Amino acid sequence: MTPDEPSTQSLSGWGRTIQRTAQVRRPAFEGGLIGTVLAEPRITVRGAGKSYGDAALPSDGIVLDLTSFDRIVSFDQGSGVVVVEAGALLKGVIDQTLPVGWTLPVVPGTERITVGGAVAGDVHGKNHPGAGSFGRQVLWIALLKSDGTITQLSAGHDADGFWATIGGMGLTGVILRAAIQLQRVDTGWVIRNRLRTHSLDRTIEAMQALAVRQELDPRRHAIAWLDAHARGPSLGRGIVDEFYGASTSDLPGAVAPFPQRRVGGTRQRRSLPGPGVVSTATIAAASAGRWHFSRSSNSQLVALRSALCPLDRAESWPAAFGRRGVVQYQFAVPRDAVGTIHEVLTFLTDHGLTPALTTLKNFGPGSAGPLSFPMPGWTLAVDLPARWLHHPRTLQPVDKFVAGAGGRIYLAKDAVTDPELIPVMYPRLRTWQLTQRRLDPAARWTSALGTRLGLVA
Ligand SMILES: Cc1cc2nc3c(=O)[nH]c(=O)nc-3n(C[C@H](O)[C@H](O)[C@H](O)COP(=O)(O)OP(=O)(O)OC[C@H]3O[C@@H](n4cnc5c(N)ncnc54)[C@H](O)[C@@H]3O)c2cc1C
Repeated sequence: MTPDEPSTQSLSGWGRTIQRTAQVRRPAFEGGLIGTVLAEPRITVRGAGKSYGDAALPSDGIVLDLTSFDRIVSFDQGSGVVVVEAGALLKGVIDQTLPVGWTLPVVPGTERITVGGAVAGDVHGKNHPGAGSFGRQVLWIALLKSDGTITQLSAGHDADGFWATIGGMGLTGVILRAAIQLQRVDTGWVIRNRLRTHSLDRTIEAMQALAVRQELDPRRHAIAWLDAHARGPSLGRGIVDEFYGASTSDLPGAVAPFPQRRVGGTRQRRSLPGPGVVSTATIAAASAGRWHFSRSSNSQLVALRSALCPLDRAESWPAAFGRRGVVQYQFAVPRDAVGTIHEVLTFLTDHGLTPALTTLKNFGPGSAGPLSFPMPGWTLAVDLPARWLHHPRTLQPVDKFVAGAGGRIYLAKDAVTDPELIPVMYPRLRTWQLTQRRLDPAARWTSALGTRLGLVA
């Protein structure tokens, strides 16, 4: 599609579970963008389409694709403040800034998302206890409102509007630009310490110890991969990785401080026909193999970007789940709700829903965004073949465990959650709705996620 030319497209989220055919507009200039906004009664804003479920799919009306707005407007190498258009990929920002010693302080598991999607989802990385979520480093946002005017939001100017937009899932307006405070790095490398654990208790203990260190250092990352196929006393065994920034003195002489990034394609692979290659047997073999062949090790040098975004080397991951795609169910629970993690893993294995991928991360204090996902404690993410969720309510008991523990699901990944539990999981939803309505009195912004979960009052 050339910019400005409307086209009818079949769209889905990254998980490929929900499809919609919609009219897509991809304006190239701000004037065209404002004209489209004023002309269309119902609009869904879309970035790179990397949310797993239906956050960037329409319930009605057109889809506004922001990816033409991808310029780095300014970059001050002294202060590390970058002003970026919302359609720019995080990858593009890091490509420009890392070689001169600055990086985005918060990077999710993929760099191939837009700045607008990162703000609207208030995304998190593996360093949340120290760095917080993406919104913490946003200095201001230029927001296009439904009346066609552009307003600059910050913690000092319309703080309610600012925090309603951070994590607001594209339902407060179009994020046009954002100013972001980057983080200094000595090198583009990290040092990895790896521990193989034999039980959930041991995994939790190791992650808990790392959380304490992470709170003191925003450059310290941690993630545990769990062998979801293991049962009984081995349930929750896994591999715990800690990464922290390498300084130039940590590098062997021949190693350049900033590694060359391999230029990778973003081509989406076609889904494998039928059920794909992910099955109980392949998951069992891959999980057990990964655990058995891993060893605890210390002080391995790894490129920062490979450490933070391993799935960027596996663009075909959703295709492997076949025609129906993959559901990623991600939830957060408070620190003392370790029992819920045990309960969820047991429920899944007892019901033959062994996840293809299971990861556990630490969260620190949440943000002021009423719909922002992180809360102090744990976050667990499981990838399940959508074809296993025969009934839309298959995971409803899991929703109940999570809500009952005072936790919540991640809106940017959701495709299945029980809408009735959203006000319980997000107790500040009403506050957010009041600000959302003030910013969008025309009720122009919409999405399949917003409608399904009743986010907009
Ligand atoms: C492999 C993989 C790993 C991931 N790992 C993580 C992780 O570790 N941590 C994490 O937090 N997330 C993670 N995610 C989820 C991803 O970071 C979020 O879903 C993110 O919001 C996607 O951004 P996008 O540009 O693709 O936006 P889209 O998917 O296109 O849209 C996401 C939401 O943002 C809104 N939006 C997009 N652009 C704008 C704009 N300009 N103005 C207003 N609203 C806008 C949309 O309306 C929608 O509600 C991962 C996703 C993938 C595919």
